[in-house]
Order: sequence, then C-alpha cells, then structure tokens
Amino acid sequence: MSDNSIPETSNFIRNIINDDLKNNKNDGRVHTRFPPEPNGYLHIGHAKSICLNFGIADDYQGGLCNLRFDDTNPEKEDVEYTDSIMEDVKWLGFDWEDRLYYASDYFDQLFEFAKQLILDDKAYVDHLSTEEIREYRGTLTEPGKPSPYRERSAEENLELFERMRVGEFKEGECLLRAKIDMASANMNMRDPAIYRIKKVEHHRTGNKWFIYPMYDYTHCISDALEGITHSLCTLEFEDHRPLYDWFLDQLPVPCHPQQIEFARLNLNYTVTSKRKLNELVTEGHVSGWDDPRMPTITGMRRRGYTPEAIRDFCDRIGITKSDTLIDVGVLENCAREDLDKRTRRVLGVLNPLKVIIDNYPESETELLDAPYHPNDPDMGNRQLPFSKELFIEQDDFMENPPKKFFRLGPGREVRLRYAYFITCNEVIKDDDGNIIELRCTYDPETKGGNAPDERKVKGTLHWVSAQHSLATEVRLYDRLFNDPKPDSSQHDKDWKDFLNPDSIKLIKHARLEPSLQNAEKEELFQFERLGYFCVDRKDNCEGRPVFNRTVTLRDSWAKQKHK
Ligand code: ATP
Ligand code: MG
Repeated sequence: MSDNSIPETSNFIRNIINDDLKNNKNDGRVHTRFPPEPNGYLHIGHAKSICLNFGIADDYQGGLCNLRFDDTNPEKEDVEYTDSIMEDVKWLGFDWEDRLYYASDYFDQLFEFAKQLILDDKAYVDHLSTEEIREYRGTLTEPGKPSPYRERSAEENLELFERMRVGEFKEGECLLRAKIDMASANMNMRDPAIYRIKKVEHHRTGNKWFIYPMYDYTHCISDALEGITHSLCTLEFEDHRPLYDWFLDQLPVPCHPQQIEFARLNLNYTVTSKRKLNELVTEGHVSGWDDPRMPTITGMRRRGYTPEAIRDFCDRIGITKSDTLIDVGVLENCAREDLDKRTRRVLGVLNPLKVIIDNYPESETELLDAPYHPNDPDMGNRQLPFSKELFIEQDDFMENPPKKFFRLGPGREVRLRYAYFITCNEVIKDDDGNIIELRCTYDPETKGGNAPDERKVKGTLHWVSAQHSLATEVRLYDRLFNDPKPDSSQHDKDWKDFLNPDSIKLIKHARLEPSLQNAEKEELFQFERLGYFCVDRKDNCEGRPVFNRTVTLRDSWAKQKHK
C-alpha cells in the first residue's frame, strides 16, 4: 500500500496504523471490528466506537470492519438487541457487508482450543468456590496462592472438562482456569477463568452448551479467527492486554491482532452504562429504549438527531488516551449546526393566544407567499393563509411590558412574519381575569411584512391562522438529568435522584401552519424562533403528525450556568 492511501484525519490509533502500513505489517491489511454485547441498545458511547472502527475501514484503502456480536453471556442477551444493533449501525451510515459474526459461532473452536490448553498444562479445572477463589487470588500488594486443584494431570482435567460440557456438574461447582501466574503483579493474570458452567439456553446455540467461555478468552480468539489487525477497545481493558496476548501466544491461531485502547466517551448530564439505561426502561422512568430523552442511538434518532450530526460529534471529540467528560452541549451544537443547514423554516404556535383582526373582513382568507428559508431559495416556498382570527404565542404578549420587551403589548405595533404589521388595541379577559383574546388592527399597506413609509417595528412574531392551523401534539424534550455527573460516586444521593422532572413537557394543543399536515415521519423542521423539531417515528395524534423538539435554537443551559 502506498503512502498516498493514508487518510488525512489523524489520531494516535491512525498513527499506529500508518506506521504498520509503512512497515508492511499484516501484509498491508487494515481490518477492525465493532464487538457489541447484545444485552441492550447502542448508545452515544458506542457511536464513538462505531465511527472509529468503521471510519478507519472506510478511510484506508481495502480496509474492512466486521460487526461481531459478543454473545457469551446468554442470561442477558436477546434477539431484540441484535436486531436493534444492526439497525442502528446501518442508520449511522456504516456497512459490515457480508461480515456479520457471532462469538457463539466459535463455541466449538473455543472448546477445542481450551482442550489444547489443558493438554499443554496451561489450563485446569478448579473446584474452589467463588468465595475461595477470591481469597486465593490475593490482593494488589500480596501474591495469590495456588488452588489445591492446580496440579492435576492433563488427563484428569480433560475428563473433568468434558463432564462440565455435558452438564454433569452444577453451576458454580467448578470452572476451567488458565494456568498462568498466581503471583503476577497483574491480577488478570492470576489464573483467570476460561469457562464457567451456566445451564441457560442461548439465543443462538439453544441448549447445546452447559458451559460458556469468558469474555477475555473469547474476544482475542474471535479477533484472531477473523483476521482482525487492530483490535480497538476502551481503556478499562488496558490491564487485560497481557491476557489477550497470552491466550494468542499459547494457541495455534491464524494471526495475532494488536489490542489498542482509547478513552471511552463520557458525557455530562447523561448516563451511558447499559445497566443503568436498562434500569431507566424497566422501572418506567422513560417510555422505552427509544424514548427521545435516552442517549441511545434509537432515542436520539427519534428525537431528531441525524446520522450526520452524530458522526460530526464523534469526529469533533476525537480519539485520545485519557478519560475526559464531554459537555453534552457539544452534541447539541452538532445537532443545531446540522439541522440549521438542512431544515425548512415553518411557523408553529405552542401556547396559542387568540388575536382578532378587527379591520379584516370576516369571511376572507388570503394566501401569503412565504419562503421556507430566508436566504436559501432552493428550499422553495409555500403559501400561508391569513384570516381574521389568528394565534400568536402567549409569551409574545405582555399587558404591562417592560421597556426591553419588543413584542406585543397594548398600543404596540409588531410585524407578523411574512404577513402584516398589527397593533393591539384591546385585551379581552374572562371573569377570572385571564386574557382570552386580543383585539388588534392590521395595516393593509404592510403586506409581506414591510411598511411603505419605512416605518420600523422592533418585534417580529410567528403566528398561524386559527381556522386553517393544524392542531396537534408537540413534545418539548430537555436533558434527562439535571446534574452534570448524575452517576458520580461523589454524590451521596442515588443517580436517579437527579432525573430532571422537566425533561419532557407535553403540549397537547399546539397550532401549526397547515403545510405541516402532510409532514412525514422523521421529517425535520425549524419552527421559527422556537427550535428544531421532527415528526415522531411512532406516534401520531388522530392521524396528525406529532412533533418532538430536538433542540432549542440556542443553548439555554449555558445561559443558566452564567446566572
Ligand atoms: P456499557 O458499559 O454501556 O455496558 P459495554 O462496553 O459493556 O458498554 P459493549 O456492547 O461491550 O458495551 O461495547 C461494544 C463496544 O463499544 C466495545 O468495544 C466498547 O469498548 C465500546 N464502547 C462501549 N461504551 C463506550 C463508550 N462510552 N465510549 C466509547 N466506546 C464504548
Ligand atoms: Mg462489554
């Protein structure tokens, strides 16, 4: 492979790969894999790993990336998860082509390799209890001591291992351990488990096995069997690397991939542990894995994030060797930037306040030309119906406005976007003193929103025509947690005590411009002055599209912090 095939984007992993290519290591091949455990849905942290692994394969000439399900723990795994993982990886824009693998496909081979280790006096069946194993293992400062079962003959171990396989022992009665070094400074090397008994049905192998291989043993061998060149994992596996290498050094595997560790993604105001996300789902704190507040890929998709925004985020945070906490505002900004480029601008009123235009004819409706984007004619335009009865946003009116309030108030004039200037003449209230409507007049000379005499107004409001508007539900989402580090061990409160009670606000009776009647699932818009919204993928409100707010136009949390 020539140097000019080396991509420009760089990080320390790509530098290692570039050097390997220069030295013609692995015959110039670059082959990575993404190895999820199918025990939950993918989250934004996984997206970082997916973008890294598949990104490298895409960028290097002839590069390949496998999707491999790490399905060695049958108790927690489910096809629902494998299906969702495949869907999410594809949606993010990556393709494993014909390289879909399951660690469980290697169970026979892994079993044979384990017997090989026994024959070579590098593995043994141990009968110590879990408790005893812990005791014998020693501590960081004290060496461990050998199990009394450590020096059995290979024949005896083989026979016991075979009996483990056919289910003759109970769970926990014995396990197969690697015979490495009970005094190693690295605890992972103190005779780690290779196989344990689990009398559980596996979602792919059914009831064939009563024993299941451990992750550390399975992972390196799966990598080697698939011809992986660079096995990229998160930092917590750094101490496992000697074990990764040890297994591969003992066994007749086709190649020896290089394990390289990088920092996992940590986001503030977010939890990204699958166990915790699962808890949010099963305890009903959210509506499901795809709740738009979840940091799962499917949740973010439903919220209105695009694959491009997520990939851009993964690019921006980069790949490093040290753990950091990324501000979730960075992610939100990626959504804003992407949505700013791609969305049409529309009008929608979330909390309607009725406006009657007294000098507008009762039965008339006129259609006003309005571009979908003020400076991008390619986005086209639509016609907004204007009539005597309109809605504006409740927040856009104040009866006794302070000086700096440039919106509507008694006696004030404002512009209705793409329509006319209106002036408020009277405020109508109910018996309890609540404002129920505003009586206004419009200036017919200001059609389109400009006055002929160059008269200026300070405020421009969004609006809809009452009788033409689409009444539907809009959901305003915000961060799921109100603490930057909900699962920090420094809190004395439970992480779930930091759930943000305002993370969802249902607006049951929003009024949107009529063109949105035909909006399709997942279609994205900017509601002028309000934020970016997408049509929910799942729900609709009696045949009308329901909208989810992806992000506000500006970061309101940053403002709060300054206060
Ligand atoms: P969790 O801690 O959420 O349970 P996991 O690491 O057990 O995640 P896996 O399904 O084993 O989940 O992860 C698949 C791949 O994604 C692994 O290579 C893992 O290192 C990577 N990964 C998981 N979480 C993150 C993260 N926050 N940042 C970067 N990579 C991650
Ligand atoms: Mg894992």
